[in-house]
Amino acid sequence: SESAKLDFIREIVARDVQANTHQGRVHTRFPPEPNGYLHIGHAKSICLNFGIAQEFGGKCNLRFDDTNPTKEDVEYVESIQEDIRWLGFEWDELHFASDYFEQLYEWSCELIRKELAYVDSQTLEEIRQQRGTATEPGQESRYRNRSVDENLDLFSRMRSGEFADGEHVLRARIDMASKHLILRDPLMYRIRHAEHHRTGNQWCIYPMYDYAHGQSDAIEEITHSICTLEFDTHRPLYDWFIEKLGIFPSHQYEFARLNLTYTVMSKRKFIDLVDGNYVDGWDDPRMPTLSGMRRRGYTPEAIRNFCSEIGVTKYNGLTDLVVLENALRADLNKRAERRMAVLDPLRVVITNYPEGESEELDAVNNPEDESAGTRKIPFGREIFIERDDFMEDPPKKFFRLGPGREVRLRWAYFLTCQEAIKDEDGNIVELRCTYDPETKGGNAPDGRKVKGTIHWVSAEHSVEAEVRLYDHLLKVENPADMPEGQDWKEALNENSLSVLKGCRLEPSLADNDGAMPVQFERKGYFIQDARDSAAGHLVFNRTVSLKDSWSK
Ligand code: ATP
Ligand code: MG
Ligand code: MG
Repeated sequence: SESAKLDFIREIVARDVQANTHQGRVHTRFPPEPNGYLHIGHAKSICLNFGIAQEFGGKCNLRFDDTNPTKEDVEYVESIQEDIRWLGFEWDELHFASDYFEQLYEWSCELIRKELAYVDSQTLEEIRQQRGTATEPGQESRYRNRSVDENLDLFSRMRSGEFADGEHVLRARIDMASKHLILRDPLMYRIRHAEHHRTGNQWCIYPMYDYAHGQSDAIEEITHSICTLEFDTHRPLYDWFIEKLGIFPSHQYEFARLNLTYTVMSKRKFIDLVDGNYVDGWDDPRMPTLSGMRRRGYTPEAIRNFCSEIGVTKYNGLTDLVVLENALRADLNKRAERRMAVLDPLRVVITNYPEGESEELDAVNNPEDESAGTRKIPFGREIFIERDDFMEDPPKKFFRLGPGREVRLRWAYFLTCQEAIKDEDGNIVELRCTYDPETKGGNAPDGRKVKGTIHWVSAEHSVEAEVRLYDHLLKVENPADMPEGQDWKEALNENSLSVLKGCRLEPSLADNDGAMPVQFERKGYFIQDARDSAAGHLVFNRTVSLKDSWSK
């Protein structure tokens, strides 16, 4: 809204627009590396970059930062586009950093000619050792003063494939004593005989992130290049390349990445989970990937609302997962129709209900949204209730069912328990109850009150389903607190998935449109599993539990 205070990035953009910098033009980009699926952290960056473009009448590009051939794949290129669109954004231009390889190569030759770049033939280990420390200057390479001609010759032979991986690198020639470690002759290119998912075997030298990223921004005339805080130490180099090449002056700004409690947020760790079969693929509903969250039942609106709620700052922190879940509950509360489902069924025979008969009762679909209307639910002599809604010897504060006690069946009648039937081992297998035909709709004409209301389904009409409940993927609240050297997978929660079989759903859920979120009354928000649910074998995932329920 207009009156909302702008975050520091939007303040910068607003100031630049005001000052008519770049003719008031705003152009951002979202630059994923196609080496994995997008996660909720990326959503923060997407909402920021695309959001700024929308709010300031600008543009936002999608650029694949595909400069590392060994880890990237078209599968990821496709999933990333699908996930961005699902979140509700559309890019103005689609680019691949690999399309700039030729331009980047030419610019390298230009820097060599200006004596601002050279081919180093030391090993990476030697180069690392010469780097110095924050307090000690680095040491110059013995190859640093090669002639321009020798550098141009070696660099073109690097390109043509004459050398093996690691034999040479191209380095910027800046200052081995700079107080910015990043400016101590950083690498620009390494040799890598590897096939690239787009350029195939056309190249065997690949640019480093720092040499590719700013130049790609400049080529696209990006005005505000927004990245996470770790890159603030890279900014002097970002600026140096742009200045020395005299190209479009894109500028980099850094914001704090998203960290969530009980959640790992790194593609490398997701690959460990998927490859180690700890989860059922990238879209496992426990994964914080956008595809996993979609399968879990998250809505794009909930994720966008969450991103705007947490805002954008310069300080790394840890966001409570509850903030994300509450954004989800708030959204689902408005859109999810209510249904009844019994997850742990106990059979109830209503002995005074006529045998062989049934009826249909009216149920409100969503008390938050009158336009959602009502539906019919079948009721008959045998129903299922939750096993834990009955106690043989209930304490005083237990307002559900017990011997001789009366409760309200949601949308139906008052019900009184007469008898619990047990098997040989003493397990309760069935309840015998009576109902009061005068209480249809849930109120007694004599003004008699009951405290508890429970959900139920008709035994005859209900459909069977498998229901999957989820808990945190990790047992530790802050993964960053784990001791150095400990395998982070030891923190995995072995109870993160519970599979319930033989659950009973009201029949309208049998032909529920798979994409439609529902609330199972008292049990939480659920969605049909997009992968495993089929006509004869319904599977529902719990998206999130309810914070409050209308009956405890
Ligand atoms: P990962 O560590 O999961 O591989 P990454 O930063 O390497 O993430 P990129 O594909 O390079 O992944 O990220 C694309 C964009 O998303 C970058 O601009 C990056 O800063 C941003 N981004 C990545 N993770 C987060 C996060 N947790 N919070 C906010 N932005 C993020
Ligand atoms: Mg990365
Ligand atoms: Mg990373």
